Amino acid sequence: MKSDTEKITNSAIKTKERESIIAIASGKGGTGKTLVATSLALASDEDIQFLDCDVEEPNAYVFLKPQLQETIPVILPFPKIDAEKCTGCGDCVEFCEYNALAVVKGKAIVFSELCHSCGGCMLVCPENAISETARQIGVVEIGEAYGMPVIDGVLDVGEAVAPPIIHAVKAQAKLNLITIIDSPPGTACPMIEAVKGSDYCVLVTEPTPFGYHDLTLAVEVVRELDVPCGVIINRANIGDDKVQQYCESENIEILMRIPMDRKIAEAYSEGIPLIEALPEYKEKFNELFREIPPLYQRGA
Ligand code: SF4
Ligand code: SF4
Repeated sequence: MKSDTEKITNSAIKTKERESIIAIASGKGGTGKTLVATSLALASDEDIQFLDCDVEEPNAYVFLKPQLQETIPVILPFPKIDAEKCTGCGDCVEFCEYNALAVVKGKAIVFSELCHSCGGCMLVCPENAISETARQIGVVEIGEAYGMPVIDGVLDVGEAVAPPIIHAVKAQAKLNLITIIDSPPGTACPMIEAVKGSDYCVLVTEPTPFGYHDLTLAVEVVRELDVPCGVIINRANIGDDKVQQYCESENIEILMRIPMDRKIAEAYSEGIPLIEALPEYKEKFNELFREIPPLYQRGA
């Protein structure tokens, strides 16, 4: 077990000596993001670790089948209202930008699934009616597969706030290993939390109008995060060439094209890693791994 100072935190991510972090993301679900993330990890000859940050629907374990070594609860502070003291003034409701508070029948109530644990409502309450309580919202699981540390996060059913779990997953990563992050799909807070601080982002898309649209949103987000990106086009032999034209016009490198192939779909549905089902992909992903700019520059 590494000490806290050896672990990655989002605040430390840019400042400490550490190995490269490569995020695999997609503007929408179902594009083959996990297929790419697991293939990259398994094809590599380097010492790497795999972080499954898709905490609402973690599924990399289906392919990696890690041996679980440790489960760490993720516990967050939440506000607790003292109904005796609360006057129903509404200051806390007005302050909370996540709509996690309401005044009902003259008393404040908390919708804890919406709370982001910022603690601000406690500070603004003029009656000191808000105190802190703690609640578990999920777990971080640490395991090992193929000799590689695999860390995933699982958000409890009914919970809606994924970023703290993603933060907790990243906090368990070791500094001295190349990190592959399987990000949540989409471009909302969970994806941002997963990708921020990475050295490079591989965006997986497909050549369809939806794929094109969601890719443009994802590119905007990673550029906002100052993370360079490249694109993998999955099911590349369907659809149109709008994704390709967009990448050319935006100067985004197309790193790989994966054709639609029944054998790939069958392996995926059976939880068999792509590079095991179709070994020709091992060399392709190994080559891709070495060509990802931060890894190429370090001579991976
Ligand atoms: S702690 Fe922050 S997010 Fe949670 S209810 Fe209070 S103000 Fe809202
Ligand atoms: S700010 Fe305090 S007193 Fe006012 S509604 Fe909220 S909990 Fe009640």
